[in-house]
Amino acid sequence: MPKANETILEIDLTALKHNYEHLRSKLQPNTKFLAVVKAFSYGNDSVPIAQHLEKCGTDYFAVAYTSEGEELRNAGIKKPILVLHPQKINLETIINRCLEPSIYSQKTLLEFIETAKRKNQTNYPIHLKFNTGLNRLGFDKQDLPFITETLSGTTAVKVVSCFSHLAASEDLTEDAFTKSQIALFKDITSNLIPKLGYTPILHQCNTSGILNYPQAHFDMVRSGIGIYGFANDPKYQPDLIPIASLKTVISQIHELQPGDSLGYNRGLITNKVMRTATLPIGHADGLTRIYGKGKGFVFINNQKAYIVGNVCMDMVMVDVTHIDCEEGDEVIVFDKIHTAEALAEAAETISYELITDLSKRIKRVFLI
Ligand SMILES: *Cc1c(COP(=O)(O)O)cnc(C)c1O
Repeated sequence: MPKANETILEIDLTALKHNYEHLRSKLQPNTKFLAVVKAFSYGNDSVPIAQHLEKCGTDYFAVAYTSEGEELRNAGIKKPILVLHPQKINLETIINRCLEPSIYSQKTLLEFIETAKRKNQTNYPIHLKFNTGLNRLGFDKQDLPFITETLSGTTAVKVVSCFSHLAASEDLTEDAFTKSQIALFKDITSNLIPKLGYTPILHQCNTSGILNYPQAHFDMVRSGIGIYGFANDPKYQPDLIPIASLKTVISQIHELQPGDSLGYNRGLITNKVMRTATLPIGHADGLTRIYGKGKGFVFINNQKAYIVGNVCMDMVMVDVTHIDCEEGDEVIVFDKIHTAEALAEAAETISYELITDLSKRIKRVFLI
């Protein structure tokens, strides 16, 4: 592996395939796999990730917004793409680019049917999203009569799937709540299906749902964080490989004397002799200020160096007083061993936030 001499996010596509195949191995053979590639594929760059997953055999993709789906279509992605959170202004684009909307309210159902009719569509695929307790997006059970009545009056759209989202599938202390969500989803869909007269794909599980609730895999599962290598649970982590490694380099080393301060707003004032290393990565790259003042850390020559003072826009300083290192040495912010999850936890956040925050300024380097 060449040594990093600037800040790079190295992405291992072999690990991506491994994670995909591992998660797939948890499913019944006929269960479909939807890969969630929203938010720049959780910071990894959605086009190469989706292209690779398409080769691996994923059945479906999901993005949050229409523009993310357009980007995949522009890159030649052929598999169906579910847009989880379309806005009214994008409905025409959805149809023009063969994207499939999540329909989550009476209003969005009427608006989409109206757009599909205007564009002379028949049986345009839509996905009905049901709220089973997350209380974020979705129809409630009471909307069923409205849905069936509205759908029976049109051939412009066809329900390709019904889905719902779990609120706490990674948290086994919320097991009873999760089971109530699963039961409600079954109840809603078993009421709806006879009225539709056909059976759409049913899906409810995200990554932790796949791992913890095999009884809720239904016809398809949706995985994001898992394909990028995070299990949300130490007991499953050994089976997955984090695909991304964030590496940088030491630009300069400073020696501070007792009483010296470091960085903006004198975020650190030392009472001892100290060596600090300045690295070319800052909050504009996504290493946000929450990692400053001793919360976050990096690894230099396999030793932990804490971030000291405030994180700057384009730089960060780390304490290397006890580390044998020099300018030009490689720095690991996270990799397969020193995980993004551990770094995120140290700053009281989650891997999802750390990896999706990584800005496009950081060069992505793909390893096959
Ligand atoms: C983001 C998202 C997912 C993926 O969740 P992971 O925990 O990353 O697997 C699945 N479903 C919906 C509706 C989402 O918004």
